[in-house]
Amino acid sequence: MAAPINVVILGSNISGNLMTHYILKHITPATTARPVKVTIISPSTKFYWTIAVPRALLNKPNLLKPEAIQVDIITHLVKNHGPRGDKWEFLEAWARGVDVNRSIVTIEAVDHNVKETIIPYDHLIIATEDELAVVAPFKPHGTTEETLSGLKSWGDKIAESNTILLVGGGPTGVELAGEVKDSYPNKKVILVTSGNVLPMLQPRISLIARNLLEKLGVDVRINTKVTAVNRAPSGQGVEVVLSSGETVPADFFIPTLGQKPNTEFLPKEFLNSHGFVQTTDYLNLPSHPNIWSLGDVTHYEGNRKATTIDPYCQVLTWNLRKVILEEGKVVVGEGAGWSKYKHSLDQMMFVPVGGKQGTGQVKTWRVWSFFVWLLKGRDYMVPWIVNSVSGSSVPKKLKIVA
Ligand SMILES: Cc1cc2nc3c(=O)[nH]c(=O)nc-3n(C[C@H](O)[C@H](O)[C@H](O)COP(=O)(O)OP(=O)(O)OC[C@H]3O[C@@H](n4cnc5c(N)ncnc54)[C@H](O)[C@@H]3O)c2cc1C
Repeated sequence: MAAPINVVILGSNISGNLMTHYILKHITPATTARPVKVTIISPSTKFYWTIAVPRALLNKPNLLKPEAIQVDIITHLVKNHGPRGDKWEFLEAWARGVDVNRSIVTIEAVDHNVKETIIPYDHLIIATEDELAVVAPFKPHGTTEETLSGLKSWGDKIAESNTILLVGGGPTGVELAGEVKDSYPNKKVILVTSGNVLPMLQPRISLIARNLLEKLGVDVRINTKVTAVNRAPSGQGVEVVLSSGETVPADFFIPTLGQKPNTEFLPKEFLNSHGFVQTTDYLNLPSHPNIWSLGDVTHYEGNRKATTIDPYCQVLTWNLRKVILEEGKVVVGEGAGWSKYKHSLDQMMFVPVGGKQGTGQVKTWRVWSFFVWLLKGRDYMVPWIVNSVSGSSVPKKLKIVA
């Protein structure tokens, strides 16, 4: 049997996992000369439903068990594509380096059964996320167990704190402030933000979000910056200095802002000046056509959301399939028949504020509170996890996107 074409995917959450299903459904069955094998490298074998983190973080099993937002990836790969082996392999490991001259990824195993330290690739796909600039369980954070214990310990910390100060008025800050205050009406919850809350939405919708938070009892400080965070003299909690000159004591300080790409292990030549992977609109790297990237880790600014991942997968799968089927005799982007990615900045955001209310925007329309509750706030879309992890949204037919 001819040696396989090795497609190595780094990261296995929303982008990496969906991309795996796309390849196994649309590329693996189409190849005849050399089979395609997908190797997924990720420190976590569980898919992490970031969307529901603001509620799961409370660690209140009657609301949402933290365990419920982690779903096993391997089970769904086996169920949909057969046993691991010839077609796919999952290595529970960190990618620690990429050597383009030798076409290898160096890895550090998390699972002691993984003996490999070097993984050769014919095509490499980078889907390793961005994360908040602070160590927090908002995104997959290390191994499955580390992410889960991070969630639980933050929940415990919230439960034992009287005053919780959140910084950042984006959807994560607004949703988390709402969840905390709704669950713990007697705690003091302060949300500090340098501009307005939800500044990416229309001003009238930002105002609705702010009013909903204030109605719940959250102390919202707009147009305010945190200038320093000092340890409290008592040794318990912190003292947060605000640009207004005020110093606010807090038992728990939660920053929810800043995005940092998880790309330290990649050669600098792959990255833009902010550390995100710089791709062409065909989603490969200008200097290394067999290295591809998608999702939050790419250079595409704004609208980094789970809902934007599928269009990346469609373009990348189309182009990768063309290269593989034409046995590398084509140059990506030259001639006709290539898919081109266009990053949509169309707004689609649903922001629950506590368990019963919320606001949102779709394109230029405001979403009524009831619909935000119905579509997201009542269960944070947890019933959708299985659809997402199993790749059931992958279309039967692949289309060119030009
Ligand atoms: C709190 C919160 C709420 C959100 N809510 C919504 C929402 O309601 N709607 C919406 O559309 N979007 C939402 N998002 C955004 C959404 O979560 C992201 O757009 C999405 O997770 C991006 O997917 P990704 O696969 O690119 O990155 P991630 O989901 O972050 O996955 C990255 C993967 O890379 C792995 N990895 C990292 N480093 C390495 C390494 N060195 N080697 C190997 N693997 C590595 C990780 O373990 C993980 O598997 C939310 C985000 C947050 C933080």
